[in-house]
Amino acid sequence: MENILKVEELTKKYFNKVALDKVSISFEQGKIYGLLGPNGSGKTTLMKVIAGLHKQTSGQVFVNGNPISYKTKKDVAFMPTEDFLYPWMKAKTLGKYFSDMYKDFNRAKFINLIEKLEISKENKVSELSTGLKGRLKVALAIARDASIYMFDEPLNGLDPISREKVMNLISEAFNENKVIIISSHLVSELETYLDEVVFLKNGIIELKGDAESMREENGKSIEALYKEVY
Ligand code: ADP
Repeated sequence: MENILKVEELTKKYFNKVALDKVSISFEQGKIYGLLGPNGSGKTTLMKVIAGLHKQTSGQVFVNGNPISYKTKKDVAFMPTEDFLYPWMKAKTLGKYFSDMYKDFNRAKFINLIEKLEISKENKVSELSTGLKGRLKVALAIARDASIYMFDEPLNGLDPISREKVMNLISEAFNENKVIIISSHLVSELETYLDEVVFLKNGIIELKGDAESMREENGKSIEALYKEVY
């Protein structure tokens, strides 16, 4: 299987703080990865370097064989954890805004997705609950046609129903040509959806592998393993 995303000896420092320490990992298409670790382990930093939003201190990242640049941005759909939605915007206006920003954004698909998620295109962001805003953010990323989709803590602050809707949305959007990376510290909610898991700890990959084999070899759930590692 092809590596659509390759991270080689990636180091990122913020002044003296080492957020990622020579991280090397390859991501294969057709898989859903869980990037797991507590706050401060480096998950957001790794995603932001891959998305081209942060510059690495050293090391390399290749997207479809090309080093990260403005050109690789079109291959990566990234949902940041921050609340970037303008409160005064209607859902349909956000769709227009995103289609102006990304050539690969499919507006019809976006409207279709949000309606399935019980959001009307006439709804203003300020009228939506936290759960609905969380769903909207995920739909904005899913409506792009990219090869790599990354979601930074998509379940954070969401109620159980929204968590399930978000995970179903992400897994429905998935196909064998794509790679999906989901960061989380909520392992139990995520576990059943993951093909591969990556445990990050203090900027280092502590453990990684196929979720099913990890469960078999260790005779325990990924959540139980997670608790052991941290
Ligand atoms: P996570 O997403 O796992 O919570 P982060 O990537 O946000 O981890 O952070 C990794 C480490 O880098 C943390 O110790 C954090 O405090 C530090 N860090 C992140 N962003 C900055 C920044 N802009 N300036 C200084 N330190 C930062």
